Amino acid sequence: MPGDHRSPIYLDNHATTPVDPAVLEAMLPYLSGKFGNAASHSHSFGWQASEAVNTARKQIAELISASPQEIVFTSGATESDNLAIKGVADAYRAKGDHIITAVTEHAAVLDTCRHLEKSGFRVTWLPVQCNGLIDLEQLRNAFQPKTILVSIMAANNEIGVLQLLKEIGELCRERGVLFHSDAVQALGRMPLDVNALSLDLASLTAHKCYGPKGCGALYVRSGVKVSQIMDGGGHERGMRSGTLNVPGIAGFGKACEIAKKTLPEESCRIAGLRNRLRDRLQAELDELLINGSEEHRLPGNLNVSFLNVDGETLMTAVNDVAVSSGAACHSDKIDASHVLKALGRSDEEAGSAIRFGIGRFNTEAEIDYVAGRFIDAVKKLRELSPV
Ligand code: PLP
Repeated sequence: MPGDHRSPIYLDNHATTPVDPAVLEAMLPYLSGKFGNAASHSHSFGWQASEAVNTARKQIAELISASPQEIVFTSGATESDNLAIKGVADAYRAKGDHIITAVTEHAAVLDTCRHLEKSGFRVTWLPVQCNGLIDLEQLRNAFQPKTILVSIMAANNEIGVLQLLKEIGELCRERGVLFHSDAVQALGRMPLDVNALSLDLASLTAHKCYGPKGCGALYVRSGVKVSQIMDGGGHERGMRSGTLNVPGIAGFGKACEIAKKTLPEESCRIAGLRNRLRDRLQAELDELLINGSEEHRLPGNLNVSFLNVDGETLMTAVNDVAVSSGAACHSDKIDASHVLKALGRSDEEAGSAIRFGIGRFNTEAEIDYVAGRFIDAVKKLRELSPV
């Protein structure tokens, strides 16, 4: 129903999520009276801060079935990806020099691996099938005696495709190879159990699960070695130096506590909204391509190519809806998305793609409004430039 929603409508929850009001409330004391440094051991200000950090460590660990001491706080997932990959590469250099990853990873993984290639490591870049999943047989064949790490993301930030982490984890475990996953888009949106998935390292960030920006974590399985990539005070058991972002960490913990409680019901509700949007678009428009597997997919993700329409022009036409035409981190570049190209999409097909990211605070009325706006805009743009 027009008018029965906020404007503009936010449907870009893969770029970032709004902060949950309960998360903000959990953060506020640490931005005012409880301002202590968690590393100050000699007074109550420090103890309060350290207690908040311990609580958050537990809340985050519980969401992924880890132990609190396996959580290393960072500034976000870009840093977590760098720490995991460079840290393992350095710590296990004597064991091997080969890393396996996939071409559809986030830039934080791709560029980190490219960086290591320049310093003598060898990287196998696995392609993906047309549904966005890596081929497990290709992974099996990619292992070498000197392979030290496999880094495969849990959920893709553009197409929401969920890789088969359990099977990948088993292949790594059988061979004694460490398994890292950029699990940013999966955290709080689907079950993530580091033991069931045989994960050794997982990158997490607060701002994709209704927490604050600039606060992340790296899960490091007990016994796994990670060299620090920044020199300093030796915080976080020597893996990540730097004063902890206590308000951010308190918010991240609260966000994980909420996610643990709401995940089963929320993921069903959000999948329902996504299916409603997809069904409306498919019922009223032809020449649509859904990008990525529909079966192995995040509940809130819909990535559609509206053929014969330019994605950027379409976003301008529907300027009261916040969506994305590719990864937000790349939105200043007009190159076709590397993920869509990896699925085999042409430049034109990739250029006509829109990523819808549905989240906790979206409503049915918003979805209906968005569907109507896109249907009208696509029809108009196609009339203006019939092919
Ligand atoms: N990895 C993935 C899959 C992402 O979607 C993002 C954010 O866009 C990142 C890493 C980077 O996370 P952060 O913004 O916390 O550095």
